Amino acid sequence: MTKELKNLIAGKWVGSEKTFEKRSPFNGEVVATVHEATQEMVDEAVTKGREVSIGARANEWGNMPLKQRLAIIHDFSDRLLKRVDDLVEADVADTGRSYWQACNFDGARAANLFRAYADLAVSLENRSKTFQGEMGFQGLWYTTRRPKGVIAAICPWNVPLLMASMKVAPGLVMGNSVVLKPSEETPSSATVLAEVIAESDIPDSAFSLVHGFGVGSAGAFLTANPKVDAITFTGETGTGTAIMKVAADGMRGVSLELGGKNASLVFEDADMDKVVEGTTRSAFFNCGQICFCTERAYVHRSRYDEFLERMTEVANNIVIGDKNHDGFNIGPLVSHGHRDKVKELLDTVKEDGGEFVAGGGIPEFGDERDNGAFIQPSIAVGLPEDARFVKNEAFGPVLHVAPFDTEEEAIALANDTVYGLGTCIWTENISRAHRVAPRIRVGHAWVNSWQIRDLLSPLSGAGASGLGEEGGKLSLEFVSQPQTVTVRIFGED
Ligand code: NAD
Repeated sequence: MTKELKNLIAGKWVGSEKTFEKRSPFNGEVVATVHEATQEMVDEAVTKGREVSIGARANEWGNMPLKQRLAIIHDFSDRLLKRVDDLVEADVADTGRSYWQACNFDGARAANLFRAYADLAVSLENRSKTFQGEMGFQGLWYTTRRPKGVIAAICPWNVPLLMASMKVAPGLVMGNSVVLKPSEETPSSATVLAEVIAESDIPDSAFSLVHGFGVGSAGAFLTANPKVDAITFTGETGTGTAIMKVAADGMRGVSLELGGKNASLVFEDADMDKVVEGTTRSAFFNCGQICFCTERAYVHRSRYDEFLERMTEVANNIVIGDKNHDGFNIGPLVSHGHRDKVKELLDTVKEDGGEFVAGGGIPEFGDERDNGAFIQPSIAVGLPEDARFVKNEAFGPVLHVAPFDTEEEAIALANDTVYGLGTCIWTENISRAHRVAPRIRVGHAWVNSWQIRDLLSPLSGAGASGLGEEGGKLSLEFVSQPQTVTVRIFGED
């Protein structure tokens, strides 16, 4: 029987007359029937959320003593960890990825984020100072961080549980109410998350889950609601731009984590074993659907043939479409629609003067996976730097490879993009690594590695890759408002 996924509106599971089918990208089968939230449901979630965060019922959540609120979050985190198998199962069903990936990349790692954010909140600095002000008045000021109110958390589909946790955890920890809108492609793990919240001591109105799409649906209803106090969004640059325009009305804060076209630089002194292992992950992990994935590799001319030969061998032998494979492997892209977009980009390679040394098309299995949204890991060479495959984000398992001769040229090639998200620098020369990293306009530079990430470290993008920052203290600051209280100290009469 197909699962029915409903909306959780301030503690009540609510169905809708309008539903849509979520299909598996692995074999095209229906995974769930999803109830699309209406304007009224979204508005109710926001209105009730305001009440317990900064409104008349704030004592129930936003104004609750921090220690008490964090104890509730700790308890919730323990409950969530007990449901890790269900969370993993949900993401595997929605995305078609393997258990190996869902367990190692999100799973418990995402569930643990709630506890990590609660612990971090305790260490947020509350500053204070006595002072002598104008006309000789004596005073004392102190600054605390207040919840902003209602946070709209709008998520993409690529790592569903992790993305949702990265937004919901800091929001709740700081006493806000959060309305979560998962991607229409991945509604399942968010629903399990909501089930656990509903059973926990987090007040009903402090969290709502709304299912649906963007324009004309839950996403747009949410961002347009003037009682939403801040929006944390991860997704495409075009969507981020549209949301920022809507948020300008009412001067609401936005944190936008957007697309990328990340470059890896392989210098002449690089250790090629490390490069190949790291680039395999950076280009193909999650079928290339991580915002930090490498889609361009620039290799010193002296190592170019060696790199290409080894990466071609890797790409041609990656395990595809085995959900139970217990090692590096890739699943399908998230949907047939996304597969069509990636395929269209692959088709530009020949037109723009390049050729594939690996992949370039849709694999054939001869079984149920032929109904899935699979694409081959693909490596293209011979393209000019203004080719569409080099300029446009694919968000798929693709790699453009080209040689360079000098460090300056490598830096210029890496920076020749509107995006500014991530880079990998492969060199055994420590001075070169530290010399090159600050010259590349990105939020995160990895040296001899990729995506080794402490989830509490800052995450930000330059240029078209985003605005605002996420990660650890930065996330807690984004969802809270510093408030300074000053009191006059009177002298003796
Ligand atoms: P998307 O922009 O299509 O959708 C993201 C979310 O926004 C979905 O929940 C969608 O329903 C909603 N949405 C769409 N239009 C909306 C609107 N007008 N108003 C409100 N909500 C709207 O992105 P996607 O296809 O889900 O994700 C892929 C993109 O995400 C890629 O570009 C990738 O690089 C980016 N991404 C970035 C990061 C990062 O940290 N920088 C991380 C993961 C993914």
